[in-house]
Amino acid sequence: MVFLLSGLCLTVHAQSVPEDRVDWESPAVVTPGEDFYTTAPSDAIVLFDGVDASEFVSRYSGDPIRWTVADGCMTVSPKGGDIVTKRNFRDFQLHIEWRAPAGEEKEDGFRGNSGVILQGKYEIQVLESCRDDYDPKCQAGSLYNERPPLVNASVPAGEWNAFDIIYTAPTFKEDGTYRSYPYVTVLHNGVLIHNHVLIPGITYKDYQGYSSGDGHGDGPILLQDHQSAVSYRNIWIREL
Ligand code: MG
Repeated sequence: MVFLLSGLCLTVHAQSVPEDRVDWESPAVVTPGEDFYTTAPSDAIVLFDGVDASEFVSRYSGDPIRWTVADGCMTVSPKGGDIVTKRNFRDFQLHIEWRAPAGEEKEDGFRGNSGVILQGKYEIQVLESCRDDYDPKCQAGSLYNERPPLVNASVPAGEWNAFDIIYTAPTFKEDGTYRSYPYVTVLHNGVLIHNHVLIPGITYKDYQGYSSGDGHGDGPILLQDHQSAVSYRNIWIREL
């Protein structure tokens, strides 16, 4: 259900979600500074160093990933499928770099479509959306279908983006409803795009275990195959 109140758009979910303002205007375009890539700190778990993809497996089979690993990155390949980390995580700081392919043409217009799905449930969208004409609900850095980024800090297709994601996992009551919601803070290319934002529920039905009220435990980092040859590199995580 969506209520329009005094020009504010409030999304009301089945459970009692604290009121939280959402502005669906197109985020302003901000040109990031340089050098927003980082190397892993000493206490990080390196999930992908550009060569070794063994921390990830195919989402459904658990087999080694079928993405292309070459040139210091791993790239979604045709029918490669979603991939997930073998490890599950609760609260964490995640650094991940991604690149939308240059020159990609998609019938649906969604070029460079992929996603970083936290605990396998909550998606930070990956998309080639450096221009300002995309639907804010699904442009790069949006909390998919729930909240646009504060600003659009994307770089053009063919260039590397970085997400730095600080995530607090939810807790659940005995009946499986949220006792505390998940929260996320995201920097996109060094620019703050979500500031300790409440995640009101799982962002897409495909993320299994999802129905409002289903509790869940620790979960993997899931990278989405959305039929775009998106590449990833330099992925590390610090458990909090
Ligand atoms: Mg996506």
